[in-house]
Amino acid sequence: MSRPLRVVVIGSGPSGFYAAEALQRQSAVPVQVDMLDRLPTPYGLVRGGVAPDHQKIKGVTVVYERIASHPEFRFYGNVMLGRDVQVSELDKHYDAVIYAVGNESDKRMGIPGEDFSGSHPATNFVGWFNGHPDYREERFDLSVERAVVVGIGNVAMDVARILAEDPEVLAKTDIAGYALEALRKSRVREVTILGRRGPAQAAFSPAEIAEIGSLHGADLVLLPEEARLDDVSRETLSRKPDPEAEKNIKYLNDKAAQGAGSNPRKVHLRLCVSPVEVLGENGRMNAVRIEKNKLTADEKGNVRPKGTGQMETLQAGLIFRSVGYNGVPIQGVPFDAKSGHIPNEAGRVVDEAKKPILGKYVVGWAKRGPSGLVGTNRPCSVATANALLEDFKSFDAGPAPEKAREAAEALYRSRQKELFTFKDWKALDRIEVETGKKLGKVREKFTSVAEMVAALSSEKAAA
Ligand code: NAP
Repeated sequence: MSRPLRVVVIGSGPSGFYAAEALQRQSAVPVQVDMLDRLPTPYGLVRGGVAPDHQKIKGVTVVYERIASHPEFRFYGNVMLGRDVQVSELDKHYDAVIYAVGNESDKRMGIPGEDFSGSHPATNFVGWFNGHPDYREERFDLSVERAVVVGIGNVAMDVARILAEDPEVLAKTDIAGYALEALRKSRVREVTILGRRGPAQAAFSPAEIAEIGSLHGADLVLLPEEARLDDVSRETLSRKPDPEAEKNIKYLNDKAAQGAGSNPRKVHLRLCVSPVEVLGENGRMNAVRIEKNKLTADEKGNVRPKGTGQMETLQAGLIFRSVGYNGVPIQGVPFDAKSGHIPNEAGRVVDEAKKPILGKYVVGWAKRGPSGLVGTNRPCSVATANALLEDFKSFDAGPAPEKAREAAEALYRSRQKELFTFKDWKALDRIEVETGKKLGKVREKFTSVAEMVAALSSEKAAA
């Protein structure tokens, strides 16, 4: 072989890093990996999505640093596909492209009043408290006393926990400074989480709900009749046992039996209810109408919620929808609007005729939808990397000057004067950790690209 296979990974979250790692861990095909991110900072949802009080999960970045230190790996931060470089240009400079772009949009509830002020996607709140540059200007009216969170997945748990948590616990984390100040002034006393199905179908993991149940200063409260297992779910579980669901059912019933507790803040978990309308006045929400559901099994045995017509109104000044994510189409890349991700077969991107496109691959949420924990991405990315290596196993392209690393880097530098290498990111990382230390925090994040650029240039000027 006359030159290494040139691969570019778009996106530097977990799935992107695991794809790079899988390519590094073999020697049959010599590979050079470049990784682009639209932000100067790497790590995707580990930095911008994982909640600040989950520092253990963030510890996984040690693995990504090791991957980034490989001599045949380069990181180009602040370089955005579609803005600074086009798909056709990547095709010229690389043999293969791996899309690790995640899901950057949220699903809507599709109910009247959803656009009232006070109604927000959970993703915006998560991005805001995590200091993601896209969300730092978001404003949430935390002067209200009651908030509603729709959905009972782990993102909903993160949102409810951050709203109900003692801010002094968050003060030691890497939460964005402005978010900590706003949460310290928050008057939210009651958070109501709405699950449209029952305890057996909860999407949260047992550890996540247990964290809500052991918050400082807040009680998890359930109605015993909503925590109780219904006949349809009991029958489904007897056919298809689910240890996680069993754990959740027991935990929720134990909690329901404990009553409301004596802490000043309450997290109410309501089950088998759906929001049907956000109510408000003068463009501002003030309540949510919910409908009681009954669970039924469809012809395939899936448990579905069915409205009973029994309504209730919850007074609330904020509502966060946390009902799942969707991908965002990229110019020049196939996109399946129905599923919200890049159409693929086992990681090979396919065209309209469902035929794999040689040299185009996808990993992570962009491949399989928004599911799983950080570690779920490793086998997913390994499978895609293996498909890529299989396609290029007899690769022998001969010399191609435009496919030299220098040519790609020159292109990025010509388009983005404020390009961040991994070394540049490490400089930012050190400043964030040092600033954090002075404040008694894990780190104090830069939350705007301009701040990052300025900090790096003063660091370089001082060196
Ligand atoms: P998710 O786990 O898919 O949960 C979505 C929730 O929204 C489900 O409870 C779903 O109920 C509900 N829902 C969907 N449409 C609805 C509607 N129209 N009305 C009412 N409820 C509706 O999604 P997620 O919470 O966004 O999490 C995404 C992934 O990230 C998950 O794999 C999650 O585990 C992971 N994550 C993990 C952590 C962690 O480990 N700490 C933290 C955050 C996220 P149905 O089940 O009835 O559809």
